[in-house]
Amino acid sequence: MSSLLVDDIGELVTNVAGSGAGGPLGLRRDVALLVEDGRVAWIGPTRDAPAADRRIDAGRAAVLPGFVDSHAHLVFAGDRATEFAARMAGRPYTGGGIRTTVAATRAATDDDLRATAHRLRGEALRQGTTTIEVKSGYGLTVADEVRSLRIAGEVTRETTFLGAHVVPAEYADRPDDYVGLVCGPMLHAAAPYARWVDVFCERGAFDADHARAILTCGQAAGLGVRVHANQLGPGPGVRLGVELGAASVDHCTHLDDADVDALAGTARPDGTGTTTVATLLPGAEFSTRSPYPDARRLLDAGVTVALATDCNPGSSYTSSVPFCVALAVREMGMTPAEAVWAATAGGARALRRDDVGVLRPGARADLVILDAPSHLHLAYRPGVPLIRRVLHDGVLL
Ligand SMILES: [Zn+2]
Repeated sequence: MSSLLVDDIGELVTNVAGSGAGGPLGLRRDVALLVEDGRVAWIGPTRDAPAADRRIDAGRAAVLPGFVDSHAHLVFAGDRATEFAARMAGRPYTGGGIRTTVAATRAATDDDLRATAHRLRGEALRQGTTTIEVKSGYGLTVADEVRSLRIAGEVTRETTFLGAHVVPAEYADRPDDYVGLVCGPMLHAAAPYARWVDVFCERGAFDADHARAILTCGQAAGLGVRVHANQLGPGPGVRLGVELGAASVDHCTHLDDADVDALAGTARPDGTGTTTVATLLPGAEFSTRSPYPDARRLLDAGVTVALATDCNPGSSYTSSVPFCVALAVREMGMTPAEAVWAATAGGARALRRDDVGVLRPGARADLVILDAPSHLHLAYRPGVPLIRRVLHDGVLL
């Protein structure tokens, strides 16, 4: 059994409410944290720290749980930089560019897809993301969705079957047939490699009936439900997700009162937020020059909010959770503490995990040491590389 002591922590974000000051962040000052066999074993005052095989000195910096990025698309080929440039020159985003990436992904070798997924996973890790969800959805044939999920499974256990990302061109005139394929042979082949099922429920993608059919089939195959909902305009996605007990409804940019009420109606009996999380993806609004979701309205209604990157080559090609934290604070009405919680504990809730996004004895030893004395600096110093060290599964990177 090997042990590692992270010593002389100036500010520790535990996300254990009531364990210290600072509300839901559970801030603790002047502590040390002992890791044994990939788990947090002990947290206490620096002066009481036990001996360990190795010791790293945090130098009074802030330490927080590794980020939990609960929404990312890392298995694809090509990029869409020219589409981005055109958009910045005034062309609106419609979601239609997904088909460009589908064509490139189908034409790519396994090794090409694998190299991109691993490169982006490494990029995210260096920026403090220790847990990441990865979706398929750029293959859209049985074979290409399965290989996408296999490759996703090499970089994370949080894999999501998104065969219903868009109706592929060859099914453009017969979407019912494509939904039949997704619910039938594609789901059958994909389910062993996936933990979750997801649908892009949006005008131009999948309507409420199609989305319900796919999510229900996925549930019957043992997968948990998440939904891309209400990104480009008002729609039925959020309420459908709530109806089906989704762990998370993602984007939530265009919500009406009934959507917010539906989410608030999933309140947990112990008063600690909602069972369906609203995952906000401000990188998408940034990269498509669109209005941001109103996080304040959701938080004030008692809805649990997560922040994630939506890393994908079309509408949000960033793997940086700190960037999303800064956007959420500046543009979406969140306090720095709310945004840091949403990017750690909130992401864990969106993945129904209680072993990550939190630092307490027994939790996974996934944490980041900042080059800053406080979590506030993540929003206060945007664009600055503040992630000094990352500990993942107890291993120092
Ligand atoms: Zn997405």
